[in-house]
Amino acid sequence: MRKPVIAGNWKLFKTSGEAVDFVTELVPLVKDIIDVEIVIAPAFTVLATVQKKLEGSGLHLAGQDCFWENEGAYTGEVSPLMLSDAGCSHVIIGHSERRLYFGETDDTVNKKLKAALKGGLTPIFCIGETLEEREAGDTFNVLRTQIAGGLKGIPAGNVNRMVIAYEPVWAIGTGKTASDGQAQEAHKFMRGLLSEFYDWTIAEETRILYGGSVKPENIKGLMAQPDIDGALVGGASLKAESFASIVRFKQ
Ligand code: PEP
Repeated sequence: MRKPVIAGNWKLFKTSGEAVDFVTELVPLVKDIIDVEIVIAPAFTVLATVQKKLEGSGLHLAGQDCFWENEGAYTGEVSPLMLSDAGCSHVIIGHSERRLYFGETDDTVNKKLKAALKGGLTPIFCIGETLEEREAGDTFNVLRTQIAGGLKGIPAGNVNRMVIAYEPVWAIGTGKTASDGQAQEAHKFMRGLLSEFYDWTIAEETRILYGGSVKPENIKGLMAQPDIDGALVGGASLKAESFASIVRFKQ
């Protein structure tokens, strides 16, 4: 059984006051939900503040990125060790915005995944095709290349400790969600890749999330797909009420 994960990616939003207000509102709305892993990924500057508010709630904290070294002369970076120290259990790695604006490649993503796993964090490893790639019929090739590159040298025993997020770039922040069928097709393909690169048990155990304009209105249809194990949510995770109704997708 794969426990569903609903993760909110706050991106470059929320000051500490706004973060505190959000968590104060969210926690009572989801406190009875025990069969969903709920994760919030705030900006680094508010991690400690959010962590204090989450204590005892069962909700998880994530970084939005991490570097591959634990310490050193790397100005501006944050390490897996520092994320753990701030109370994080998860970290988003390889988000398409980082690939697009900050030069992340499959190679840097691979180093970060290894470092996060070594540091005891659960990576949320993001992949997905652009609109041009989809229209050119390249979606499966792109997913194969990104998964093979990201997971290079990562042993089977570590793969099922991570979460994969399929986020078609054309669906992120655009209001255009992949249809349930398009998402399921990609997820099924990725699970097949995991069984090809590892084995069927690993493929069956690894959770694969969908991300891209997930909202309270479309979460049920997505979650009804057999290979969709949760969602990585951007815009709709910024309001406690909409995030809570996504978390409560079973009701
Ligand atoms: C994301 O940032 O990972 C994301 C999926 O954003 P949105 O839900 O706003 O499309």
